[in-house]
Amino acid sequence: MDMYLGIDFGTSGARGIVIDDEACIQIEVRYAFEDSPICDMPDSWQKALFELLEQIPKELRREIRAIAINGTSSTVLVCDAVGKPVDAPLLYNDARGSSMLEQLRSVAPPNHNVLSATSSLVKLLWMRQLPSFNNAKYFLHQADWLAFLLHGYLGISDYHNALKLGYDVEQLKYPEWLEKMQLSIQLPKVLPPGTPISEVRPEIAANFGLRHDCLVCAGTTDSIAAFLASGAILPGEAVTSLGSTLVLKLLSHTRIEDARYGIYSHRLGDLWLAGGASNTGGAVLKQFFSNAELESLSHEIDGSKASELDYYPLLKVGDRFPINNPNLPPRLEPRPDNPIKFLHGLLESIARIETRGYELLQKMGADKLTRVYTAGGGAANDTWTAIRARHLQVPVVASIYTEAAYGTALLAMRSVEK
Ligand code: ADP
Repeated sequence: MDMYLGIDFGTSGARGIVIDDEACIQIEVRYAFEDSPICDMPDSWQKALFELLEQIPKELRREIRAIAINGTSSTVLVCDAVGKPVDAPLLYNDARGSSMLEQLRSVAPPNHNVLSATSSLVKLLWMRQLPSFNNAKYFLHQADWLAFLLHGYLGISDYHNALKLGYDVEQLKYPEWLEKMQLSIQLPKVLPPGTPISEVRPEIAANFGLRHDCLVCAGTTDSIAAFLASGAILPGEAVTSLGSTLVLKLLSHTRIEDARYGIYSHRLGDLWLAGGASNTGGAVLKQFFSNAELESLSHEIDGSKASELDYYPLLKVGDRFPINNPNLPPRLEPRPDNPIKFLHGLLESIARIETRGYELLQKMGADKLTRVYTAGGGAANDTWTAIRARHLQVPVVASIYTEAAYGTALLAMRSVEK
């Protein structure tokens, strides 16, 4: 039987999931990163990749038909002609490149998604000032470099990872303004995520007992991989992530972008995945309640009844989506003495913000919302699901799978099956 391996490189560790050709999970393997200085990270990523392969039982490994890898979005590195990193990578949340924003504003179109302190392009401009850049030949994302270790070709990426590098995912080319910057480094050739790139290198096949015709596919980013895992597949279907923050993603025929609200769209084949993120979410709940309290108090709430409390739960001043106001104050008053009533008000208010977010995406041209899948710590809260369904007026269900590695395995399977 043919098997498909998806590998997820997250912030604290890496995971691998092998699925069969009916998308059933055969095995899940994990590796927690050790604490290492940033300059040693590529070594620890390589170690994690190889350890994950070794953890998969030999009989299964022999049946793997294709592998795809997702990295953390905007974790990037530069390497020399043979793929050796010439300096420490810049991680997803590294904002040192903000000093480059002014320079970039003079060449990039207004409100472009590269104009953020953590975009891949800003990171590249920042790395360009380092002495080590003289030895740099290729600019790669984390997922590109890890896939290179398996297939041996440098300078290849996918259009999910390359979005924040400025790649034009509609025209499928680097825009002229970016070409004109003459960055004196090879930008990756960009493929649709999942495209088979090559068979694994013969040494890799021999070392790990993989099939010599096992394909390595172009990868994706962690958040898109989690969307793919959710089960959402049709235009109008969405995934809400109820983690520390509230993140919405709605699959649509239309591409929508609005930098004021931090809304942008990833390409997903012929469709677009429009997304926005609010600062409200579980981190505010955590300020007042432990996870056990959230669970027990939620059981006491009647989710079919509306709470009249109207909050805008934030940890600190300011939100971008669905209200773009850097001075928006957190609104958590009046606070009733009864913790059940207080929690009801919080859950109800976050559900209102979620609904307003989907309304904004639809107002901007996204398809009509038909169903919401849910991921993150709040997904298990049935009371909250009932409250949200009352506001959203569509079925609200838990994501079928929440592991990004599962979504990446699906990506490998669907691309090879085509
Ligand atoms: P992160 O974004 O940090 O990865 P998680 O997806 O792990 O977040 O979710 C953690 C959040 O989920 C916490 O902020 C916590 O308040 C919230 N949470 C945990 N259990 C519940 C629950 N039963 N109901 C609502 N929220 C919950």
